[in-house]
This record gives sequence, structure tokens and C-alpha cells, in this order.
Amino acid sequence: MSVPDIRYRQIHLDFHTSELVEGVGRAFDAEQFAQTLEKARVNSINLFSRCHHGMLYYDSKRFPERVHPHLNPRDLLKQQVEACHRHNIHVNLYVTVRWDLYTVHEHPEWIAIDENGRYSNLEKKDFFFEPGFYTNLCWNSPYRQFLKEQIGEVLETIPFELVWFDASFVVECACQHCKAGMKALGLDPTQKKDRVAYSYRAYWDFVRDMSALGVDYKGSAPYSPDFIKPAGKIGQGLPPAEHVMYLKGAWVAAREGSEVLAEAIEPIFNRTFEHFTSHAHSPSSGKPGYPAIVKNGRTIYFIHPIFTMYHTHAPRWCKQLFLNALEMLLPEPVLKHDGPSTILATLNHQAAEHRQVVHLLHYIPERRSMTLDIIEDVIPLYQLKVSVRADHEVKSVSLVPQSVPVPFDVRDGRVEFVVPKVNGHQMVSLALG
Ligand SMILES: [Zn+2]
Repeated sequence: MSVPDIRYRQIHLDFHTSELVEGVGRAFDAEQFAQTLEKARVNSINLFSRCHHGMLYYDSKRFPERVHPHLNPRDLLKQQVEACHRHNIHVNLYVTVRWDLYTVHEHPEWIAIDENGRYSNLEKKDFFFEPGFYTNLCWNSPYRQFLKEQIGEVLETIPFELVWFDASFVVECACQHCKAGMKALGLDPTQKKDRVAYSYRAYWDFVRDMSALGVDYKGSAPYSPDFIKPAGKIGQGLPPAEHVMYLKGAWVAAREGSEVLAEAIEPIFNRTFEHFTSHAHSPSSGKPGYPAIVKNGRTIYFIHPIFTMYHTHAPRWCKQLFLNALEMLLPEPVLKHDGPSTILATLNHQAAEHRQVVHLLHYIPERRSMTLDIIEDVIPLYQLKVSVRADHEVKSVSLVPQSVPVPFDVRDGRVEFVVPKVNGHQMVSLALG
């Protein structure tokens, strides 16, 4: 399985340019552009295919009327991408979703409608009389088809690593398309709660449409809190008992070709004034109700907001489920260690120096004041086992800056060694052949 090459030094090159601006790209030099990025050690960049003005920055055959009228060279994006790739810089193709002023003027019937029956706008401004491109388009309108065609064209004609969908937030909309959609689901467009519920549903439907998560969104989970009973690979390290999921999840159906890794277990009832038991959640009914974790190819989908749950209550099982999912998708991580979760471990590759450097950082911040986390003590660690994926031949391993050699083994495609002591920060250099 190929492991994605994830880049961290990334530039977001924000490039919204009015059609009234002349000479766009006039002094552009592709090689100089890429060299400047390389000099700044940038290894990933967002480049614009379509901006909030609705202008295109590539030589579109399907939508030539949308290519920026003063774009010169007309294939600016292609030249930018090719130059970046020559310098091993990854490209994320930028597309705007909600905001596209050209489309707003050409197709006002595709604009989302707010709760007052007016054109929806992030800043509650009027696009006829005020500056700004913050008028929200509705993706339940035929705009969706345009998005697919424009994004499809750019993905087919320009090489890229990732796609950046910007301004793709939830918008409560009461346009004719959304009203028809709400009615079909038995929702009442005159009720705010129904419009909000529909807007979230439409959001996930759009995400699924654009990214094929392997699930069909049906709404909110019928029970909360519900439970997950871990089993198999996704349940490694957890007892096969029902683990409560404190926050409400989504209700989805697994698509054909997807694998349900865990079912949600229903409680005996939702906690309401009519029926409840004890202080908090209701006990498990033991009955599997609906998919909770679904795998589709290189995607694993959790119905529950596991990161928010961890942030609010830090249940260990949410973290373990996530770590298990990560291990299923990324079985050979570049760096592993057997230390506590308070270690921050990173690996730098310094090609010019023919070495890799492992950084091990161990300082524990503690909430000792109302507003600040404080580090007061250095707590040393001893005999830390470290394993680095052997993507290169390793000649020697040594502690830096001490220059003390460290014995190592190469086993199952990994370089393994023991760091005798980490006193706050320790570097380890792997000299490459
Ligand atoms: Zn709408």
C-alpha cells in the first residue's frame, strides 16, 4: 500500500482577482516562482483554479467565458503547477464552493435564500450595492452541476496532489430547491429547526457527493448517548464491552463495497422527562442499531464527533478507536516509540546532510493557573525504544549534540534502537548511506 507523502510547510496563496484588474500574470516567470518557494523551503502550495470572483486561472475549454479576461499567460495555473512539480513542491488545487460572484450575477436563481426571504450573505450585505463576494450560493440548485463540471475539468487537465474546497460551510437555505427537498423528507420549511436540520443533511450529502465517503447520510442518530462495542482490528486494546459515546452521531447507511467495522448499540431509551434512569445516560439495550464506524477503501468514517468528544471528556476509548483506525490505514508509520503519550516525536529528513534527525520532546504542561498551562519540571525518561521506517540505508545512529553512538538493528524494514535518556529534549541522528 502506498503511504501518502504529507507536507507540512504549506503556503495558502490567496489569489482572488477582480475581472477589472489588468495584466494578471504579466511579469510571471514560472521558474522564478518555484525557485522562490523552494528557497523558502515551501513544499506544498494552494494554487487557484477558481476564485471568489468566479474567475478561472487556467485555459478552460468548457467555460472560456469565466477565464480571467486579463490573464496572461492564459495557462497560468498549469505553468505554476508544472514548475512546482519540477521542484518537488506539492500542489493543492483551490476551488471555491459557496462564493462565486460571477455565478451570482449570471445565475441569481442559484443564490441561497435566508430566513427573511432575502439573498443569503455571510455579512448580511447586499451584493447589488455593497462590495464583497460573500453572497452564498446554494449547492442544491443547478450550481451543483456547474461545480462538478468545473472541478471535473480542472482535475482532468491539471496534475495535482490534493484539492482544497474553500468556503464550503453549512448555510440554512429556503430556496425553491431546498424547500422541495425539505417537503420530500416531511420537514417544514417554515420552521427554523427543520431548515437547520436540512442544511446539515444537505452539507453531508454534498460532502459525500464530492468525496465518496462510502456512506449515505440519513440524518441524526436516533439515540444518544449510544454505545460502541469494540471488536476486531478497530477494537484492539479495548475490552469487548459497550463503551458510551457521549455526543450524538449521524445516522448513515453503509454503501455497497463499504465495510461496517462497528455497529452503534442502542440504549434502552433516550433520556427524556417521560423516561430516564439515574444521573446520566440510559443503559445499553444490547441491541445493535446502525453503523457506527464504516471503512471504504482508504477512508474510515465515524458517525460520532470523536475529536470533540475527546476534547470535552477525553474518553480513552475514543482515542484508541482513532489510533486503531490510523493503524489500519497507515500500518507502517515513519516513526514509532514505546514512550508515554506526553512525548512529542518528529522526524526530519535533511537530504543535503544525508541524515534523518529524530526529535524527542518531553515537557508536560499542567493547568496550574486559571488561564495558562505551565511547564515547571523536566521529568526524564529512560530506555526509550524508537523505531524508524527504513526508507534509506542507515550507516550509524548517534545522540545529538552528545555525539554518542547508539547501537541499532534493522528488522522487518525498520531501524530500531534504544535512547538511554530523554531529559526534556533529545535529538538522534541517523546517518544515511
Ligand atoms: Zn437552497
